[in-house]
Amino acid sequence: MANGYMGKILWVNLTDESFKEEELSEKIYRQYLGGYGLATKLIYQNMPAKIDALSSESVFGFFPGLLTGTVAPLSGRFMVAGKSPLTGTWGDSNCGGYFGPEIKKCGYDAILIKGAAKTPKYITIIDDKKQILDASDIWGLDAVQTEEALKSKHGKIQVASIGQSGENISLISGIVNDKARIAGRSGFGAVMGSKKLKAIVLKGNKTVSSADKELLLEKTKTYNEQIKAATAGAVEAWRTLGTTFGNVVSFQIGDTPCKNWGGTKEDFPEEKVNKISGTELLKYKEKSYGCFSCPVQCGAIMKIPEANIDETHRPEYETCASFGHLLLNDDLKTIFIANDLCNRAGLDTISAGATIAFAIECFENGIIGVDDTEGIMLKWGNSDAIIQILKKMIDREGFGHVLADGSKIAAEKIGKGSEKYAIQAMGQELGMHSAKYYKSMGAAFAFDPTPGRHTTACLDMIAGGPIIKPDGLFEGFTLPKKFKRPGEDRSEAEKLIAGLWQSFNSLGLCEFLAFFQQYPLIAFIKAIVGWDLTMDEIIKIGLRIQNLRQAFTLREGVKIIESKISERAVEIDYLADYKGYCEKMGWNPDTGYPLQETLKNLDLEFILKDLY
Ligand code: SF4
Repeated sequence: MANGYMGKILWVNLTDESFKEEELSEKIYRQYLGGYGLATKLIYQNMPAKIDALSSESVFGFFPGLLTGTVAPLSGRFMVAGKSPLTGTWGDSNCGGYFGPEIKKCGYDAILIKGAAKTPKYITIIDDKKQILDASDIWGLDAVQTEEALKSKHGKIQVASIGQSGENISLISGIVNDKARIAGRSGFGAVMGSKKLKAIVLKGNKTVSSADKELLLEKTKTYNEQIKAATAGAVEAWRTLGTTFGNVVSFQIGDTPCKNWGGTKEDFPEEKVNKISGTELLKYKEKSYGCFSCPVQCGAIMKIPEANIDETHRPEYETCASFGHLLLNDDLKTIFIANDLCNRAGLDTISAGATIAFAIECFENGIIGVDDTEGIMLKWGNSDAIIQILKKMIDREGFGHVLADGSKIAAEKIGKGSEKYAIQAMGQELGMHSAKYYKSMGAAFAFDPTPGRHTTACLDMIAGGPIIKPDGLFEGFTLPKKFKRPGEDRSEAEKLIAGLWQSFNSLGLCEFLAFFQQYPLIAFIKAIVGWDLTMDEIIKIGLRIQNLRQAFTLREGVKIIESKISERAVEIDYLADYKGYCEKMGWNPDTGYPLQETLKNLDLEFILKDLY
């Protein structure tokens, strides 16, 4: 009997409205774990190269981590994965809440979608009964309304759905669950919208079995008690303020960008920053909220009387930065409204805020004017204008249509030299962390197979947690001594973190765990799945996944090595940094192509025919 994983996946074909189960061997799980590790293998082999991500032949899916659905702390995450319509590369997007565990409860390690419906549909998997149902009465509703409508019809269920932005095929749209958790990056809302798939409804009746329940409970209890006992440091910061603890401090240290990545602290002085601090946001908190199996519960449900919002989720740091600092906007109410609008429409807040920053800079520099924006005065810090233009982006109305697919495409439409104000990588706006502060973020933003992301393996950011000490985060994981300085040790460290991180994500773990305390990873894998994995094996699995993510992007014809990001976001030679990493990865540093020997060593021979 399988432990940890369910042993099968579900294929849904929207064209002929069929379902097909497929059993997977233990070998596949040992090689790819779950989450986007499993996704790389399944999608690489089931989706031919150079398929339009928005066509019916495009395949995407929902992938809970290998440990997801168990009580292991912070293991409840899932990934949406496939080809990104925004960047044309491999795409994945991490999300929390309760939807991922429910996939396992339905008996599957993945739900993969292919084909396309002619009219709006939604999928239900309720107590083993699978159906594709008419969604015409919920098409047009926002994600919160959709979830409420489906719950009133089907009872206690979990829902992942798209809002208006996904329906309108906005390339910066995502997929929403738990009313505000959004797999926002990579543009999968548009993929779902292109397939006319409004929602997936799940209610399972299975349990995820574990190899050693006693060990699992013992390790879980110890970890959770330590988390609960922590009254200071990262745990307390996350528990109290969530990611918004960074709203002030990250800006002070030079991490948070402002004024479309071109500003300084003088542009957004302390009194303005303090108006959008985590403490200010906290005043609106009604109760705590968090993901399945998480003892931290870093989310918050809020009520915002000033904005007539009775119930909404606390905006994350990324949202506060993209709608606050980046736009020189110190109006907290606007940030709440923008966050709520984006969550409902299913719009990625990072890309939405950053695209508005691009538009403001175009306006301020006379590239566009009120004739283009239908009278909206797109000026720095004009909070009313921010909301007006955001609504237009959601509805693809007027100038909002120009902005609805992100800043790169908007710049191509506008022309007149506007591209220098589009701060993005291969079409995706950068996460709200400066590569001038976290130096290794430059190469991660520019060259990761899923570009523009702050959540990919960024050595300098992860090194802000206990991982810098031997055995500090995971037993058996050590960084090379001189990893902070350019050179061999640093490149080796970047490779180790890349391997570790891909496995970490594929296990379904929350990335914030890296900033808390030692996590008995090997013991949890042993207790849940029954495998005696070593840290070296965990890293090797991650490297296999990273090579496959890379190969997917290269197979699409994308010249990764030519990717560039704005000088506003980076100050080191990030290409040189990447070349050092490529050499350690066993990749050609001039092209980013994995060497044949590297692929063979990782049991990835099936890629050879595509790259050579
Ligand atoms: S720390 Fe926050 S985001 Fe991470 S699993 Fe817990 S509640 Fe979810």
